[in-house]
Amino acid sequence: MSKSKKIIVANWKMNPASFKEAKAIFSAIKPKNKKSKIKADVVICPPFVYLSALADYRSTRIKKRSTLINLGAQDVFYEPEGSFTGEISPLQLKNLGVKYVIIGHSERRALGETNEVVRNKILACIKYIITPIVCVGENKRDESGNYLSFIRTQIEEIFSGIPKSALSKIVIAYEPIWAIGKSALREATPVESNEMAIFIKKVLSDLYDQKAVENVGILYGGSVNTKNAGEFLKNGGVDGLLVGRESLDSEKFNEILKVVSSK
Ligand code: PEP
Repeated sequence: MSKSKKIIVANWKMNPASFKEAKAIFSAIKPKNKKSKIKADVVICPPFVYLSALADYRSTRIKKRSTLINLGAQDVFYEPEGSFTGEISPLQLKNLGVKYVIIGHSERRALGETNEVVRNKILACIKYIITPIVCVGENKRDESGNYLSFIRTQIEEIFSGIPKSALSKIVIAYEPIWAIGKSALREATPVESNEMAIFIKKVLSDLYDQKAVENVGILYGGSVNTKNAGEFLKNGGVDGLLVGRESLDSEKFNEILKVVSSK
């Protein structure tokens, strides 16, 4: 990815309850301030049911700010078409204009998604020129550092079979599970985020080489809010943020986007 621009991703999860509300949130997002376009790729990942209508809405506003918003999906299947009841293919997403897909979110892993499935989904996205945002993260932290070997295994299992040439087209989101959602223990600190960004790159450079890892984008996700976003971007060693709850409130999400412009 281009390191000159940050990426700010909104994961709406299974919200909101109606398209009317989804459109209201989407149309209130300001990926531009009065003076200039913000220095970030803004990616909104709504539930599948709203993607097509939001893509239409976006394309009817060609000269308006909503065209600066990229659409992302919260998951994808790895086959392009066929008898896979309930699944959505990368080809279908590509044809809607979807540019990014979140893969391997901990909430999907809790439903049984394995590192092997995550790898197949990444490969499918690369094939259809969709940027995969690959989530990794440990359940808990322990003094003896077992969480580090957990992350190492996640990355080794996911990336075995991913060619070096694909690396610059992949974004990794470090999302410690203990820092995510309403039941989060706490957010990670920018120091912890920085350490993990370094660690993730180290594991990747052991698998590939130092040069290949230079262009892999790393995001932080887990209880990002208007107060901590700036610190993560300044001292968290990351190229952007993955925002859950606060992205459903367009005012708060706009505040986070403003923080990016001021960095
Ligand atoms: C997430 O689940 O991807 C996430 C970042 O959630 P939250 O910001 O609500 O902790």
